[in-house]
Amino acid sequence: MSESTGKILVASRNAKKLRELRRVLAAAGIDGLEVIGLDEVDEFPETPETGSTFEENALVKALDGAAATGLPCVADDSGLEVDALNAMPGVLSARWSGGHGDDDANTSLLLAQLSDVPDERRGAAFVSACALVVPGSAPVVVRGEWRGRIVRAPRGDNGFGYDPVFEPEGEERTSAELTAEEKDAASHRGRALAQLVPALSKLALRATLEDGPVP
Ligand code: IMP
Repeated sequence: MSESTGKILVASRNAKKLRELRRVLAAAGIDGLEVIGLDEVDEFPETPETGSTFEENALVKALDGAAATGLPCVADDSGLEVDALNAMPGVLSARWSGGHGDDDANTSLLLAQLSDVPDERRGAAFVSACALVVPGSAPVVVRGEWRGRIVRAPRGDNGFGYDPVFEPEGEERTSAELTAEEKDAASHRGRALAQLVPALSKLALRATLEDGPVP
């Protein structure tokens, strides 16, 4: 990294999410920002995710991260909205079957709930809200969506969560049958992060200017 690199915190301990932001920055030609995760900063109290929207949860996480570290902070919150369930599980996606993060139980419950729903009404979307909080600037919150349908039985071993039962529009494979690169290129999170590129470019430029020219 050059001396003119500023740090940006991703409010996550998930190495995949950190890599994803690094790829987005690289693809946009932004090289003035070093992406770090929560494991690389001092621990701080995190507000529970109890918001009623993805946007609210993402913003609270990014505000917490920026306030605790003084660094610009990106946070995301994501989930699955199913048309036939009036956009649920939504913000409850990770804990739909009760416990937090039991992917198999969540997926089985969803399939059971949709068992009588005909093929033409099985539409759904993965949704990701990403918030960028830069101390001293107004927060930016964006949303990315990935439309598709819920199939009747799980297929594929890649990905996580509801990937084995989500068939993206225009695909005959579920998102758990796509390669990581294919999923990244189309996914809700990729689409949301891409919208932050203009703000991230500005931030990188500011970091470069504040540090002065590299000798
Ligand atoms: P988080 O925002 O990454 O914590 O995700 C919340 C929950 O939404 C996860 O536990 C999954 O159940 C679901 N989810 C979010 N994004 C995806 C995805 O890309 N594939 C599958 N499930 C997802």
